[in-house]
Amino acid sequence: MASIFTKIIQGDIPSYKIAEDEKYYAFLDINPLAKGHTLVIPKKETDYIFDLSDEDISGMMVFAKKIALAIEKVVPCKKVGIAVLGLEVPHAHIHVVPINTIYDIDFKQPKLKFTGEEFEVISKEISSKIIA
Ligand code: 5GP
Repeated sequence: MASIFTKIIQGDIPSYKIAEDEKYYAFLDINPLAKGHTLVIPKKETDYIFDLSDEDISGMMVFAKKIALAIEKVVPCKKVGIAVLGLEVPHAHIHVVPINTIYDIDFKQPKLKFTGEEFEVISKEISSKIIA
């Protein structure tokens, strides 16, 4: 069965898309730790990130870098942090999160709530800052 993230890539489940290319897709996390918290995923469904080929995992990081540079133009932050957990959704993903303190990327923190309209605005703002 296709993962929830594959369904998102295929458009069967809606997402607030940030960017995509032929191999990777980026969209806002629906339960964000911070405004702009984005997930970067490979289009080829693979559960464990370290099962990706060298080429695919390095390409995913380069794609995540583009997303991070766009996020920092929109969300004031000290840095953009990344994290890989993958305990919930069995489709490899990198969390890309703007941070000011370590607590901003602490997954035990309560998640933020945004309306659909707010998610839409955030995704459009970040997406407009992507440099190809
Ligand atoms: P992990 O697998 O890294 O522990 O966490 C999975 C992440 O995916 C969580 O941060 C969760 O909020 C996010 N997530 C799970 N289902 C969906 C979904 O349907 N849409 C979006 N945008 N994010 C999701």
